[in-house]
Amino acid sequence: MFPAMRSTPPREAAPATTPAASLVFTTLLSHGPLTRAEIGRRTMLSAAAVTKAVRPLMEVGYLVEGADDGARPALGRPANPVRVDAGRALFIGIKVTGDEIIAVLADLCCRIRVARHVRLTARGPQAVLPRITALVQELLTEADGFGVRVRGLGIAVSGDVDRTRGVVRYSPFLEWRDIALAEIVETATGLPVTVDNDVRALTVAEQWFGAGVGLSHFALVTVGAGIGCGLVVHGRVVSGAHGVAGEIGHLSIDPLGPPCHCGNNGCVEAIAADPAILREVRKATGKPVHTAAEALALAHEGDPGVRDVYARAGEAIGRAIGSVVNVLGPERVIISGEGLAAYDLFAEGIRDALAASAFGAAAQCDVMTRPLPFEEWARGAAATAIQSFIGSDTY
Ligand SMILES: [Zn+2]
Repeated sequence: MFPAMRSTPPREAAPATTPAASLVFTTLLSHGPLTRAEIGRRTMLSAAAVTKAVRPLMEVGYLVEGADDGARPALGRPANPVRVDAGRALFIGIKVTGDEIIAVLADLCCRIRVARHVRLTARGPQAVLPRITALVQELLTEADGFGVRVRGLGIAVSGDVDRTRGVVRYSPFLEWRDIALAEIVETATGLPVTVDNDVRALTVAEQWFGAGVGLSHFALVTVGAGIGCGLVVHGRVVSGAHGVAGEIGHLSIDPLGPPCHCGNNGCVEAIAADPAILREVRKATGKPVHTAAEALALAHEGDPGVRDVYARAGEAIGRAIGSVVNVLGPERVIISGEGLAAYDLFAEGIRDALAASAFGAAAQCDVMTRPLPFEEWARGAAATAIQSFIGSDTY
């Protein structure tokens, strides 16, 4: 039995969607080729359960035997490694920022085959949705060249996103409210669409392929236009009962602090995100500073008032990370986002505030920085489409 994942008609046999099959598939995605015995050790599944999970995925061709594409399979040998057949299916991942759309065509191993960037001149849904549809059509044409069908589309948007219903409830940067994005784009493109929060999508990619591989508890904190956080607990990306788990940008750390767009005061985002930093840099210098790059240049020229703004931002980020560390006790916190360009200015504040706020052994948490370009975020969106396709989002 291969139940279809979506209400859209299945175009060909969908993969098996048992929890064990999904676990085996994602384990092979993360670790590359493994023998059945190694799969069993990593997933804690019995040999019989591994065999049962692998067989239907091999029958539909998503898993194959052999170490790599060039290896000659020795069929029937139990020690023969099993791997995901990267070229068997394609997926599209899209990340929408306030300024541009980044789209990638990725294979079944979520390796980027084609990438596209489109500048946005307006952020309203009526302006952005036709651009998304046009980009998807462009990538579907590219996919024809590979002779492989595109099996799903993932779209990553910042803010409060209901993945189950495919609805963007509220995206502050885009100023979108209650947009049934999955349904609209499914109708326009004919593809199954997965919509998720952008930081959560990036967290899936980090868990499968990045600095989160092999970790059962980690956090990904992003700094830049906003402050976001993706959480992995017991090996699962957490979205919470309301889909907004990890919103550390809206931890209020100073009740008398500057107003936040969420209606609260002194949120981390109102102190440490780019718009807040720009506002404070203008206040400190009296100069018409409009971009993060301009503010950063003033700081690197040594302007003490500007450096203080970054130091306060770093402290706010450090306190937010301290809260994450105290609440969840992750093994690692990965800091990423376009705001890393200013990390040398944030670093001391982050380190000191984290040391001051982390309780006991939680302070042993490993903190690392990891620059991830927006194409990696789009790859994360493609990863969510693969999750939906393989059924690993439902267990
Ligand atoms: Zn807020």
